[in-house]
Amino acid sequence: MTKYNKIIAIDGHSSTGKSTFAKEIAKKYGLIYIDTGALYRGVTYYAKTNGLISSTGSIDTEKLQSLLTLNNLNFEFKLENGNRYLYLNNNNIEEQIRGLEIANLVSKVAAIQFVRDFIDSILKKIGEKGGVIMDGRDIGTVVFPNADLKIFMTADAKIRAQRRYQEIIEKGDTANFQEVLNNILERDHLDETRSNAPLKRAKDAILLDNSNMTKEDQDKWIEKIIKERWG
Ligand code: C5P
Repeated sequence: MTKYNKIIAIDGHSSTGKSTFAKEIAKKYGLIYIDTGALYRGVTYYAKTNGLISSTGSIDTEKLQSLLTLNNLNFEFKLENGNRYLYLNNNNIEEQIRGLEIANLVSKVAAIQFVRDFIDSILKKIGEKGGVIMDGRDIGTVVFPNADLKIFMTADAKIRAQRRYQEIIEKGDTANFQEVLNNILERDHLDETRSNAPLKRAKDAILLDNSNMTKEDQDKWIEKIIKERWG
């Protein structure tokens, strides 16, 4: 088996650069990259735009469950101009799912077991033949506990918030550093303390704390690991 059939699981805290890192590994080694958080954001966006989340944040779980059961949500990742976009029922929702409104609600939706079951079944189907790299919170612990390589990414929360803040500013949007930091801390807390598939490092996951690492350091780090494992 070559590395091209492998399943690589990247889990970790919010805003640690998991998706950028996973995308690069995918490109380099010819793997399919799946951003699993985008699906949780997509379900949250669907629930919000269909009036299933109130202004106080309470979720109409009964209605959401029946709509998921009816298969009302059809997600696709489409590649356009080298970028991968999430489509929901044939609409590109990439921009909508990246805003702070969805970021503030998503961890609550992700704590619901039937939502996790719905997304897990999509992910298992995509990954059944291997050749994939997925980033998320429970890929190495729940979705693919037998993944060939597991990485757990973390970094100091203030450094993560600073990077995220910078990204928003560079895009020309406005942001408040404290708000960005609070969102990161809140999501870490909800993800780590939920009873369903909480965020935790799998026993066999390699820890990557990139608080003080450059992109080049990180590239070298993963190259070495992949070379050692699969030549
Ligand atoms: O990775 P991203 O920050 O886009 O994920 C958004 C949210 O989706 C996370 O904060 C987490 O609550 C949830 N998530 C999850 N399990 C995954 C991926 C994401 O619970 N595998």
